Amino acid sequence: MKIEDGCNNRCTYCRVCIARGPAVSLAAEEILARVRSLETAGKAEVVLTGVNLSQYRDGLTDFPGLLAYLIRNTASIRFRISSYEPEKINEAFLSVFAEDRIQPHVHLAMQSGSDTVLRRMARPYTAERISEAVLALRRVRHDPFLAADIIAGFPGETDAEFEETFTLLAELDLAWIHAFPFSARPGTKAFDMKPKIPERIAGERVARLASLAERGKENYVERWKGREVSVILEHDTDSAEEDAEDSVADIKADHRGTSANYLKLSVAHLPPGTPAGTVLSATIQGPSSKAGIDAESDFVAF
Ligand code: SF4
Repeated sequence: MKIEDGCNNRCTYCRVCIARGPAVSLAAEEILARVRSLETAGKAEVVLTGVNLSQYRDGLTDFPGLLAYLIRNTASIRFRISSYEPEKINEAFLSVFAEDRIQPHVHLAMQSGSDTVLRRMARPYTAERISEAVLALRRVRHDPFLAADIIAGFPGETDAEFEETFTLLAELDLAWIHAFPFSARPGTKAFDMKPKIPERIAGERVARLASLAERGKENYVERWKGREVSVILEHDTDSAEEDAEDSVADIKADHRGTSANYLKLSVAHLPPGTPAGTVLSATIQGPSSKAGIDAESDFVAF
């Protein structure tokens, strides 16, 4: 559900803030009415999205205040936050993130882990603030799924600056990193910034971050292996009986779900005719590939 558009920041690489203009927010009452109608229709989760959710504001209600208001006035629906700014992981955010009905998943709009690159990007935080945010999120929820966006090859990014980002990410051991090469957008300050980083070097940096992302995901699943998670089923299962003795390789393609902590799971031994949106409890077994399953989901659960 899109609840906010536009952004009041002016990051030097960003065209979105130019194209969309200043932040505007949907009224909290209207959001509540929409969430309630989803809940009445049996939906188990709503993903709240916006260009910059941390700039949500309706009168005195900011984004943490909105979440608290939605939780107070609904019964069971869960909320997932699409993306959030590291410097806005503050006490108000943490106290609402501690609530069970906020899915333990935050995608941090981090962009770099080098203070000098962050300054050139006009991002209003430091590497130290990012670390504090990650530690704080892990303090209030047990090992949430934490991910980050990273731009590699921003103009002037030296090898040493990239290593600062890489080292910080390796230390933080995030569950996922979405890394992409810098791309100059006309009309932005960064468009004319020099020196440009050659495509080959930016590509190599993205590749290193991509393999760090894979390692982070493996570590994350390893930590969750054998643990019980709540899963929302994404398709109706068909009415054919599944044999309880079937091996994991026989898990049907319609048995896919997303866990509260954002793992894409193939769920074994589901009763036939289970409707999409059902919330299940399942135990994570490990990567689908290791179980011999060629599924779109990444992990297997029972
Ligand atoms: S990158 Fe995000 S925070 Fe920065 S100006 Fe663009 S929308 Fe705003």
